[in-house]
Amino acid sequence: MLKLMIQGVLLALLTTGTVQAATRCLPDDASLPATWTKNYPAHRIIGNLYAVGGADLASFLITTDAGLILVNTGLEDSTEDLRTNMETLGFKLEDIKLLLTTQAHFDHVAVFAEIQAMTGAPMWATAPDAPILKDGGTSDPHFGHCLEFRFKPIQVDRILADDETFTLGNTTIRTHLHPGHTEGSASYSFAVRENDRDYQVLIANMGSINDGKKLLINPTYPVVASDFATTYRKQLDMDIDVWVASHASQYGRDKKYQPGQAYDPDRFVDPDGFKLAVERLRQIFFEQLRAEIMGSD
Ligand SMILES: [Zn+2]
Repeated sequence: MLKLMIQGVLLALLTTGTVQAATRCLPDDASLPATWTKNYPAHRIIGNLYAVGGADLASFLITTDAGLILVNTGLEDSTEDLRTNMETLGFKLEDIKLLLTTQAHFDHVAVFAEIQAMTGAPMWATAPDAPILKDGGTSDPHFGHCLEFRFKPIQVDRILADDETFTLGNTTIRTHLHPGHTEGSASYSFAVRENDRDYQVLIANMGSINDGKKLLINPTYPVVASDFATTYRKQLDMDIDVWVASHASQYGRDKKYQPGQAYDPDRFVDPDGFKLAVERLRQIFFEQLRAEIMGSD
């Protein structure tokens, strides 16, 4: 028995490099933000992009003439909300043909395994996020030891490279590796034609820094600081008309849209707001770097 256990530990060491004891990370009386479990009315953002997620945990549907692409889920009980939201827009969960995520954290991927089982849709992910999706969050360098932040392992069917484009039906999407928040965080861009013009649309993963993450001293992962810096620079260089992000609060949905409002292709146009949001996160990053160097963090 002991020999078997030792073998198990050795195997874990060999496969992950480090072993952290699994523990609960939230205090017993802590709960996740209420907006993370609350549903939100589904709505059209622009062209073939729809919001089908919750009050804050954003999920997006990209519709094509060859089926639907689902970007992100909510928490582990979010499948029926996603289904209902899609149905209010006239779409069926069973018609999902491709699964994508902006980041391999539980609050954005928890029901992908369930939806995979229901639809048979493949999951495509970036190389650094793929192993975390596959092991249910266990190998996440920041949250991997936290039992509450694990999720059902997801099969990854294809690796997406930075700047690679792929096409489903009439829609071509570009993957942008925007690492930092997770090592494989990604954004997705595509063009939408409305009002006789092309709008550049981005589903962004923003470079926000989770509490307790270390950038320089004992960094959460070795290149995390340069990853964040690269992501801010890349995002500031982007030419974007319409942007949304992994959390509704990040892209200011409530300032741009109220439930029930009629569709307007210009409603979410906000190129300056995107740059401002990136710049704000970059300032927070610099402040944390300074604090770590000064030894106050
Ligand atoms: Zn996250």
